[in-house]
Amino acid sequence: MTKSLYGAQEASGIWVYLEQDQGRLEGVSLELAGKARELADGRGIPVVGVLLGDQMSGLAQEAIAAGADEVRVADHPLLGQYTTDGYTKVFTELILEGKPDILLLGATPNGRDLAGRVAVRVRTGLTADCTDLKLDEKTGLLIGEVTGFGGGILAYIKCPDSRPQMNTVRPGVFAVPEPDSSRQGKVVSVPVKLAEKDIKVQVLEHVVGGGVDITRAQVVVAAGRGCQGDFALVNELAGLLGGEVGWSRVPVDEGWVSRDCMIGQTGYVTRPKLAIVCGISGAFQFTVGIEKAETIVAINVDPEAPIFEQADYCIVDDMFNALPPLIEAVKRAGGGNGGR
Ligand SMILES: Cc1cc2nc3c(=O)[nH]c(=O)nc-3n(C[C@H](O)[C@H](O)[C@H](O)COP(=O)(O)OP(=O)(O)OC[C@H]3O[C@@H](n4cnc5c(N)ncnc54)[C@H](O)[C@@H]3O)c2cc1C
Repeated sequence: MTKSLYGAQEASGIWVYLEQDQGRLEGVSLELAGKARELADGRGIPVVGVLLGDQMSGLAQEAIAAGADEVRVADHPLLGQYTTDGYTKVFTELILEGKPDILLLGATPNGRDLAGRVAVRVRTGLTADCTDLKLDEKTGLLIGEVTGFGGGILAYIKCPDSRPQMNTVRPGVFAVPEPDSSRQGKVVSVPVKLAEKDIKVQVLEHVVGGGVDITRAQVVVAAGRGCQGDFALVNELAGLLGGEVGWSRVPVDEGWVSRDCMIGQTGYVTRPKLAIVCGISGAFQFTVGIEKAETIVAINVDPEAPIFEQADYCIVDDMFNALPPLIEAVKRAGGGNGGR
């Protein structure tokens, strides 16, 4: 196997790629800054955030409040829009100069794109789509948890020889830490060598998607095959509670909805305060996306449905019978203002 461009002896620190879009940090970057802080604490390991973009140095303080000791800011007009080639060039140079031991990126579309390209450039391995991270007690090596073989197994993957140990992590797996504005950190502006000829693609238009970010929702009302494509009651309840509607894979496969808010192994990981799960059996591939909810209420006609093993409150009933009185109760309790 090809050797990585630097070795473990030269490597130090945990780096977090601080992904921003239009001057706003992706939530997963703050989640990773917080997790990196937790991994580094007590071990004397510095946490370094890396921010690429155009005129967004104000975001560095957010990353410091979330756990970074230092933020390296690569500011350049040609980094204003994400491009694979431009970002890969600048990020690779920063890595080879700073030699991080561990490098974490969010498993967002751009994070996944960048991580794969950078891993090849620095000749290291990449553990993609992690659902947990820990450090090996004996060796200090990073261990990434990923689901494999259709969700049937959990695999624990480490990268003993090559550096950096690179992992992408799914959004919503870790909580966004409470910002600590009293935290002090260094903001370092790094020189950027980038010319127009380095960027082969041209961004013609930046289109922002539908806007629902189910990974950030405090309340999720989810429906599966049991709803038979009728989301009216589920939408109403979610609206009253100021929450978002999610779904299992069946409604996507049936063509009732898009993949936008699909929950689970191949969908999103959510961590709401409250999840109300209607007409969903509770297959492992679904529950990995909801198990971090503080409270789970499940509604299912089948008393043996596996979802009840995960639920805090179990309602054995047809969802079309159970939801109307629940909606009325929420209205009576003043939830008609969207829960705000
Ligand atoms: C590689 C791989 C990846 C996958 N990734 C995902 C993923 O990311 N997310 C995901 O969700 N799935 C995923 N799946 C599919 C997963 O295994 C399940 O098939 C899926 O989650 C089942 O969806 P469901 O619970 O809506 O449907 P079903 O399993 O058919 O369950 C429907 C449930 O609704 C109940 N019900 C029926 N009518 C009513 C009613 N009127 N009121 C109340 N309850 C009712 C039934 O009792 C039943 O328990 C994946 C599968 C594979 C192989």
